[in-house]
Order: sequence, then structure tokens, then C-alpha cells
Amino acid sequence: MYRPRGELRVITGPMCCGKSEETMRELRRAVIAGRKVLLLRPAVDTRTDTDEARSRSGMTFPAHTVPDSSQILKAVAAAGANFVALEEGQFWDDGIIPAVQAMVDKNLVVIVNGLNQDYLGRPFGPMPILMALADDVRMLSAICQVCGEEAVKTQRLHADGSPAGPDEQLILPGGFEQDHEVDRYEARCRRHHVIGPTRSRRARP
Ligand SMILES: [Zn+2]
Repeated sequence: MYRPRGELRVITGPMCCGKSEETMRELRRAVIAGRKVLLLRPAVDTRTDTDEARSRSGMTFPAHTVPDSSQILKAVAAAGANFVALEEGQFWDDGIIPAVQAMVDKNLVVIVNGLNQDYLGRPFGPMPILMALADDVRMLSAICQVCGEEAVKTQRLHADGSPAGPDEQLILPGGFEQDHEVDRYEARCRRHHVIGPTRSRRARP
């Protein structure tokens, strides 16, 4: 008899590297394999409506949005899922870590996708810990918007095209496309990833 084995897979990289597409591809394969799948998103991700995840290329998959990590195990139990994907890993609270470990211990397959670094290049939220605990880490790259080379960084730009500085508030994921009218994000290679001056320095005449 086939006995599924618990496993944590992390799919990560900068903005626009295809994390959502890769996650949905895995979910579709799991459905074909007869797994009971569940896709969960943190409530902070306002990119799409609550019952559907959508990749930048337009691929969609049914999703449930939960307010925080304390609801993960409840949602998984309610759905009877044995193959679980968690989107926007960087925006979950630290409770995602014991929740993921509990699921893997129960022989569930868990996929977490998210940004490995913030726009300053710092490890982002619980992602570094999840990557350390993972059975498999898929590091995806995007295309640099300046030179067309492999992009591993997320560049944050103000409306005037100037790079964001180190003392600015981290923007929530909905802000990547909708809520924040001023800043935008794009993929950059290491050579073209730029961190701007601090706000106080810029404010000086
Ligand atoms: Zn470049």
C-alpha cells in the first residue's frame, strides 16, 4: 500500500520569478495523483479575491485566506487535506514554522512559496528558517529589468524611479500591485540592485 511521506518543499526567489506558477504546477500534479490539496494565503495578501490565487501569468487555483498561522492546522483539518501549499511565506507570522512541522510530522506534503529576501536584500520573515528545515528548496530567478541577465534581487522604486532607502516601511504584498500607488517593485541582478539613501538624508536641502 502506498504510504505518503511528509515533506517540506520551499519555492523561493525574487519578485516575478514564477513562484506562484511553480506552486500551481505542483498542486495540479498532486490533484492528478489523487492528493487532497489545499492552498492557503495569509490575509495580508490582498492581491486577488479570497477564493482564488492568481499568478502574474494569469494561472489560477482555488485558495483559502486565513487571518494568521493559528488557523493553518484548523483549515487543513477542515479540508481533510494531505497536500498543502502556503503562499507568500515571508508574510506569515512565526507560528507558520511549528504548523508546517506538525503537518510534515503527520505525513503531509507542504509547499511554502515566498520571497527569500526583502527589497534591501535581507532574509525575509520566516522564510530563512523554513528554507533551513526544507527537504527541497527550489531557488528560482527572474530576469533583470535593466540588463536582461538572471535576477536574484527585488528592487523597490519610488514613483520617480529613484531607489527606496533602508529606513522605509516594508510594504505588504497587496501593495506590490494595488494598494501602494507610489512604489513599484521589479526583479534585478546583483549589479543593478540599488538601495537608495535614507529618508532623513534625502529630506535635507
Ligand atoms: Zn542587471
